[in-house]
Amino acid sequence: MTIQADQETVTVEAFINGQHVKSLSQLAKENPANPTEIVGYFPVTTKEQAVTAIEAASGAFKTWKQTSIDERITRMRKAIEKIKAAENDIVHLLSREHGKPLYDAHGEIFVSLMWMEFACNEAASVLADEVHEHDQGKTIVSYDPIGVVAAISPWNYPIALSTIKIAPALLAGNTIVLKPSPYAPLAAAKVAEIIASEFPAGVINVVYGDADVGVELTSHPLVTKIAFTGGTATAKHIIKAASETIKDMTLELGGNDAAIFLESFDVHDERAMRRIVISNFLTTGQICMIAKRVYVHRSIYNEFVEKYIEAANRWIRIGDPFDPNTTVGPVNNSKQREYVNGLVEDAQKRGAKVIPLGQILDRNRFEQGYYLQPTLVLDCDAHDPIVVEEQFGPTVPVLPFDDEEQVIKLHNESIYGLTSSVWGKEEDAITLARQLEAGTTMINTAAVQGLDVQFPFGGFKQSGIGREYGAEGILTYTEKHVINVPKMLDLPYIPE
Ligand code: NAD
Repeated sequence: MTIQADQETVTVEAFINGQHVKSLSQLAKENPANPTEIVGYFPVTTKEQAVTAIEAASGAFKTWKQTSIDERITRMRKAIEKIKAAENDIVHLLSREHGKPLYDAHGEIFVSLMWMEFACNEAASVLADEVHEHDQGKTIVSYDPIGVVAAISPWNYPIALSTIKIAPALLAGNTIVLKPSPYAPLAAAKVAEIIASEFPAGVINVVYGDADVGVELTSHPLVTKIAFTGGTATAKHIIKAASETIKDMTLELGGNDAAIFLESFDVHDERAMRRIVISNFLTTGQICMIAKRVYVHRSIYNEFVEKYIEAANRWIRIGDPFDPNTTVGPVNNSKQREYVNGLVEDAQKRGAKVIPLGQILDRNRFEQGYYLQPTLVLDCDAHDPIVVEEQFGPTVPVLPFDDEEQVIKLHNESIYGLTSSVWGKEEDAITLARQLEAGTTMINTAAVQGLDVQFPFGGFKQSGIGREYGAEGILTYTEKHVINVPKMLDLPYIPE
């Protein structure tokens, strides 16, 4: 198999008030499959530049908020067409900087466009005024934009988790300062700039960096809304930084999503076994909503493990992200690889059995890049770190359970509550699902295979605050403004 040779390096710059802004220093972004290859360069935005970007967004807000919904939708639809036209280039860049295989990078654009199109289709009706004529008079509820949105995205789905914020924020009449993650800044920057080319200067601004710039964005008084996707630990800093000026916030955070297999699950259903394997190892396990711990009813446990290993060995092909045979690429960065590896080693020291999964297509590439062979972890304790921590990588513990009460308890004692899945006879699965503390529970599938952008997505407990996707994912960028025209102007209990 010939792998496409190195391509040109890409350099991105901060984009503020419709202009590229030169930076004094830059950082290199390497290819995780081959870290000696530099994919591109991105700037280190200074705090002063971050403030300039916030001020530009604040200035642009004054006129942008006055535009009609039709104008905003028309502009966004043009941006969508431009993204579609550039899709192949974006996919290649994303794959090279992130490490996700090409099909997976295409999948990310697919989900991003699906959401942007949904938001365009729904924005006019979702954001329309509600006018209520009632006994007490007339009330108009209008959905006003909030102001300047600081949008901070993570590295695992850098385009999808940027556009999930950009599209509704702009359609609702806000302006935005986007900060992609330094671990995958390039493709998100390209997409943001394509969108920006259809909008007036200052409506979208893009800055780079890590916590330093993040603190500026989340504490500045002109920022009125924070839309953050990332780790729960980072969110705690953000909540503190924002507390001084009490900002509106949508926080999409970590998860430790359980997949529960009931006694009625058919372990001989090969399609279902393939789905759970994909639900564990898509994007090398680096998805907030991937199934990260698997509980199987003891009566089917042994057979489940046997069938799982067969299915995993068929589907998991570890290789270069540009090789069309590859289903699982490297981990995005060496820090994450060390973290996941540490959890697996710790489980092993505690007595767990670790089973390597899949075939390595290219041993040299594997040794060179940030690769980690996917593993199934058996015989661990329900409270071992590999079970209770979010691994965010290619490993999954599988544990038996004896009754539903026990598995519900194990599910719900987590600090997280993002998604979960229940597998088995549909009505039994739905009955159990109702007992689970999770923003989404999928039946007989999990992870992105169970995602539907028409419905709200978000987490219980420390998995977040608020919802993205669905009508709520648009309304979250608005303030409800009630304009009341009461009939009874003098209240009877107030003395003359
Ligand atoms: P992270 O929290 O390390 O970083 C996320 C973003 O926050 C990055 O852009 C980073 O530069 C920025 N940041 C870091 N410190 C900051 C600070 N003090 N103030 C403001 N911004 C700061 O997360 P990550 O490693 O990029 O992503 C992985 C995490 O994201 C996982 O926990 C995963 O579950 C979570 N995630 C959640 C969802 C969801 O929808 N719930 C989706 C994807 C990823």
